[in-house]
Amino acid sequence: MASKATYNLTYGLFVITAKDGEKDNGCITNTVGQVTTSPNRITLAVNKGNFTHDMIVKTGAFNASILSQAASFDIFKNFGFQSGRDVDKFAGFGDVVRSENGLYYITKGANSFISASVVNSWDVGTHTLFLADVTEQGVLNGVPSMSYEYYQSYVKPLPKKATKTVWRCKVCGYEYEGETLPADFVCPICKHGAEDFEKIEA
Ligand code: FE
Repeated sequence: MASKATYNLTYGLFVITAKDGEKDNGCITNTVGQVTTSPNRITLAVNKGNFTHDMIVKTGAFNASILSQAASFDIFKNFGFQSGRDVDKFAGFGDVVRSENGLYYITKGANSFISASVVNSWDVGTHTLFLADVTEQGVLNGVPSMSYEYYQSYVKPLPKKATKTVWRCKVCGYEYEGETLPADFVCPICKHGAEDFEKIEA
């Protein structure tokens, strides 16, 4: 059980947006935190497999829209479960405004936004950790922020009864069919590894 203590850390959930030329993109993370107030700075860790990651590395700018308890599962599907390399995530999502830095933030399912300018970054293996100055911020409404625990309890769809042995991703619900899950398996949807899957017996 000790190895699961990190699951009890509290996290928020965020749509991270970036813009490279005419291309807008966004992804979901749970990894924004304020580290200093003067100067006002935040950190953000982004998986290197995300298209948004490459855009932040190139442009040095991102917005974090803070998801609220009004965010539907559709927002997670749109920004989290597909890649901006394949689709325009804003083609069917019009609830956006551009902040002073020219990047989108989302106005549906979010209660605030933060614009940030990267001042340093570190390669931390699977992710890049960015340290960034807050350049603009705004509160959109008073709906409480969505925690990762709230998402797990109330937003992620309830699993269907398994009819064969499957391994279910505890993060996004993706199901892998088979008696054994390869140790190096990576979830094709949320990119978490085999350690974040649980076996569901038929
Ligand atoms: Fe997953």
